[in-house]
Amino acid sequence: MAVEEESASGAAAADEARSDDPLIDVRNLQTAFFTDKETIRAVDGVDFQIDSGQTVGIVGESGSGKSVTARSLMGLIESPGRVLRGSSVRYRDLDAVREFAELFSKRTVAVEELAARYDPTEVFGATDATPAEFGHDDPADVPVVDVAAAGYTDEVGITDGDECVFVLDGDVDSPASIRDGFVEITRLSGEAQRKMRGGRIAMVFQDPLTSLNPVYTVGNQIEEALELHQGLSGKEATQEAAELLEAVGIPDARRRVNEYPHQFSGGMRQRAVIAMALACEPDMLICDEPTTALDVTIQAQILDLIAEIQESRDVAVMFITHDMGVIADVSDRVNVMYAGEVVESADVGPLFADPKHPYTNGLLDSIPGGQVGDKLSTIDGSVPTPNEPATHCRFAPRCPKAFDECESVHPVPTPVDEETDDHTAACLLYPDDVSTEEAVERHQEQDRRGDRQ
Ligand code: SF4
Repeated sequence: MAVEEESASGAAAADEARSDDPLIDVRNLQTAFFTDKETIRAVDGVDFQIDSGQTVGIVGESGSGKSVTARSLMGLIESPGRVLRGSSVRYRDLDAVREFAELFSKRTVAVEELAARYDPTEVFGATDATPAEFGHDDPADVPVVDVAAAGYTDEVGITDGDECVFVLDGDVDSPASIRDGFVEITRLSGEAQRKMRGGRIAMVFQDPLTSLNPVYTVGNQIEEALELHQGLSGKEATQEAAELLEAVGIPDARRRVNEYPHQFSGGMRQRAVIAMALACEPDMLICDEPTTALDVTIQAQILDLIAEIQESRDVAVMFITHDMGVIADVSDRVNVMYAGEVVESADVGPLFADPKHPYTNGLLDSIPGGQVGDKLSTIDGSVPTPNEPATHCRFAPRCPKAFDECESVHPVPTPVDEETDDHTAACLLYPDDVSTEEAVERHQEQDRRGDRQ
């Protein structure tokens, strides 16, 4: 079969494979802070994915690593902290890849052009690649997109729908920062990370005052974001800023666009910050405890607003909170974090109906909701500072189900039973349909091999 024809079918196969790809794919994320006395492993080997338009909740007590996870995704970790080598945060977006290629003066080329000068004999003669690993006997049958995506040529292939673009020279910004249709955020330079931040991923913090400058009007600040990310200025930007304020439910937006942050109430300030985030037209919104500083009625309004924005704009949301009640309201999927690790991950229904990890059970038991006068359940003790590599279960000192091996074996995320693969718990009691001895051995083996679910 001609290379060009085969390339087209290869591109189609790649497209098919990628239709299920998440918007953001976080693997083995490790972020540490280095002080004179110790190394604090604030995020220690975290994995999760977020699909387009999905809301993923990250929940846990203070000190569990939730906010550091969010800041790591945004490239906002400052010295003495850093994201460690081996961490991967991949962001899928053809436009972003093209934009980065242009930003760093790299040339993109259509797949047909690439296919026309693709010489399979040369590729397979000069590398350790074999046609068999691509499912073919004859080198000429291997699609050029597959060869490029596997990293056997200098070109890096990306596909989306009917389009296929190749970035010539894999060294875009830094080697392998763009690969296989994803931007590897952890390998982007500061300038490129800034482009990513705001333009693709926007963040809403707990305290809106930290995001708003007191000496500029709210309108000015939204206009600045519009100019930076959408190239709007003058009357057009002012008009759009007022419309965004209206869209987030600020009454009398055309007048209030000229007011300063101190003239807004707490709830209105948070709405203004959300309007600023939307000005960047992000694909993903990271909300870090966005309602914690607000009273209960305003909190409910802001949660409704975020849900409405997500639905109308098809934005993915990563929602961070310590409040299990809020997580139940907003999330499609939940990751429970403890001492830098994800200890349970499941869709919201199964997680609340049948929580598996003893820590998740403790968090759910401590939700207020019984009779007046009932004593609230608590988890004794506090989250330890993860300042050593994990060699045991960090929850063991607080766990009501702890047994001897919990002090010497590090549990890794594992399906809770052999039938399920999208509900995992990092606890030696799982999978629960094998004996505890066998479960412990599996964790030991996986931890030794560094396997990640
Ligand atoms: S591994 Fe042991 S200590 Fe840790 S959560 Fe499971 S039972 Fe509790």
